[in-house]
Amino acid sequence: MTASFSKLSLAEPLARAVAEMGYESMTPIQAQAIPVVLTGRDVMGAAQTGTGKTAAFSLPLLQRLLKHESSSTSPARHPVRALVLLPTRELADQVAQQIKLYAKYTQLRSAVVFGGMDMKPQTLELKRGVEVLVATPGRLLDHIEAKNAVLNQVEYVVLDEADRMLDIGFLPDLQRILSYLPQQRTTLLFSATFSPEIKRLANSYLKDPITIEVARPNETASTVEQHFYSVPDDDKRRALRQIVRQRGITQAFVFVNSKLGCARLARSLERDGLKTTALHGDKSQDERLKALAAFKAGEVDLLVATDVAARGLDIKDVPAVFNFDIPFNPEDYVHRIGRTGRAGASGLAVSFVSGSDGRLVADLEKLLKKKVELEAVEYEDDRPRGRINDGRRTWREQGETGDPRDVLDPPRERRAPRPAPAPRDPFFERPYEPPAQAEPPAWEANAKAAPGARVSANIKSRRKVAALFKAAG
Ligand code: AMP
Repeated sequence: MTASFSKLSLAEPLARAVAEMGYESMTPIQAQAIPVVLTGRDVMGAAQTGTGKTAAFSLPLLQRLLKHESSSTSPARHPVRALVLLPTRELADQVAQQIKLYAKYTQLRSAVVFGGMDMKPQTLELKRGVEVLVATPGRLLDHIEAKNAVLNQVEYVVLDEADRMLDIGFLPDLQRILSYLPQQRTTLLFSATFSPEIKRLANSYLKDPITIEVARPNETASTVEQHFYSVPDDDKRRALRQIVRQRGITQAFVFVNSKLGCARLARSLERDGLKTTALHGDKSQDERLKALAAFKAGEVDLLVATDVAARGLDIKDVPAVFNFDIPFNPEDYVHRIGRTGRAGASGLAVSFVSGSDGRLVADLEKLLKKKVELEAVEYEDDRPRGRINDGRRTWREQGETGDPRDVLDPPRERRAPRPAPAPRDPFFERPYEPPAQAEPPAWEANAKAAPGARVSANIKSRRKVAALFKAAG
């Protein structure tokens, strides 16, 4: 049974902000972490994005900082008290936005600094004084060196998405930043997985932490319906269009393994008439923020992204995620499909497996502790019919682009042979049995009922594959 926020005795300004966000019950990570963080203990939390972990650390942190609230305009009265470190710019921006919302009825100030943007406005904000500073490690070090950020009064530090920070190679930067902080502080570390490297980091920087694990590390959300299709590389685009149309998918993330592949695929899909944008590391910060804003505003149907660029983006209720390429790192599969089925909404994850993916699929099976069952795509006449959102856009007719690959219904001899239907595993034929708790947790029900939930009515969760993984694991 998940508890209501009212049980927490949050201070009125925070409770008001939470109520305004429409949250009624706590998510599991919130129910476990908030009371612990309120006591000031260090926490090592295993939770993937989409579980509500931002509120899990920021609400209790803000509550504990309320004693420092000051209406004074003097920067000296607003030193940095809490530092939240994240691996990517988008994630930092997103967490900072959430914190601003939670703190909006308090006098606590927050700011975000990340690279790729002019230092000056960030400097001005830092010089005015902020209690909560959200940052990516590289840019924070720049500000520390320029003496714009003074961290000797920090009481709380949050290392969010710590596994990805290590993956990206931020360990030396983290070590330097942590060396500037007072020894006497609370440290909260969140990571999707507890790898040996993460455990080493925790051993070095956390004091007697309480471990909180809401989902087993590497476990995919139970609300995501997962399918693996056997598709030769050359047919992937066609398969994607087909599934988008068959399922009536309104918006999707499409993951690829390389920046180059990302840009190319986005261009081809755009030529196919699908409103597409690309998100990868070679884009400027401004372009990336614009791409995100367009996707969030529903002006874009498909967001083609690499793992690093998309990690942790809080784009709610994306109806579907496509793994156009199987990720090199199986843990990225968990992160990718965490973009759909968030905060209790149901979602669809479609992965294309081509002939050369054997080893990657084997790695994935090891991580998921389950055999991946391949299905065949049922191709129909896939003459494009317009924009997937509303059919407003007209598709280019065959030959118009001059690209032979754009021929939408290629002659039979050019078509790849249709893969034989995969043998069916009787395990997946069994009807889905919900876990012992018959009622969905209240927070899930709330999330489903939340206004603006945009899961396509055509997406029916036929089999909760991950839930079965859980039962089998
Ligand atoms: P996070 O895992 O922190 O990225 O949160 C994922 C999404 O869930 C965010 O958009 C939050 O606004 C939303 N969320 C967080 N906590 C709750 C809650 N208790 N009830 C409903 N939605 C929530």
